[in-house]
Amino acid sequence: MEHDFLPDEWQQFYADCVNCRACSLGELRQNAVVYRGALNAPLFILGEGPGEKEDLQGRPFVGRSGHLLDTLLQAIDLPLDQVHIGNIVKCRPPGNRVPTEAEATSCEPLLTRQFDLVKPKIVLLMGATAYKYFTGQSDPITKIRGMWQRHRGMDVMPTFHPAYVLRNNRHRLPLYDDLLAVKKRLESTLLEEKNHEQV
Ligand code: SF4
Repeated sequence: MEHDFLPDEWQQFYADCVNCRACSLGELRQNAVVYRGALNAPLFILGEGPGEKEDLQGRPFVGRSGHLLDTLLQAIDLPLDQVHIGNIVKCRPPGNRVPTEAEATSCEPLLTRQFDLVKPKIVLLMGATAYKYFTGQSDPITKIRGMWQRHRGMDVMPTFHPAYVLRNNRHRLPLYDDLLAVKKRLESTLLEEKNHEQV
């Protein structure tokens, strides 16, 4: 099992996710969906919750949305060892409905622990639900996408969810532009850090 090779603190975290029953979604899931990508990464990409394929595979963004996300990350040449991908809730809401506020609140302690482990500098919030539950704000995603914000000590960029873009192809370019802006901010942040270390 690949998770046997995780560092101790990750193994504990993973086990806590898999065994969690803090909300009713835990009774319905096939698998808790914790992450994919690097364990320590400067960029955390956060979606709202697992869909059917994610629930079956136990990995986030593996369906059509994930394919689009991966294609765009590849197109902008963003190294995957700099990316950690997860969701607001770790268990699939039935019928892919939006997670309720109570479910997001129940899952928040696990998400906070995940952020503490990953230690990202930048967060890309995919879609209105991830934006709402992560920031506590409810501006329409069409108004604030692509605009940098500061939350929880990190640079945060809200953008469209790939599933939304698959239904509204005209938003593909804005999503691409947002990912490109994130990559540029990531490069400048990492460069600043390197220069700081050398002083
Ligand atoms: S969604 Fe989160 S809080 Fe609810 S059971 Fe799953 S891991 Fe626990």
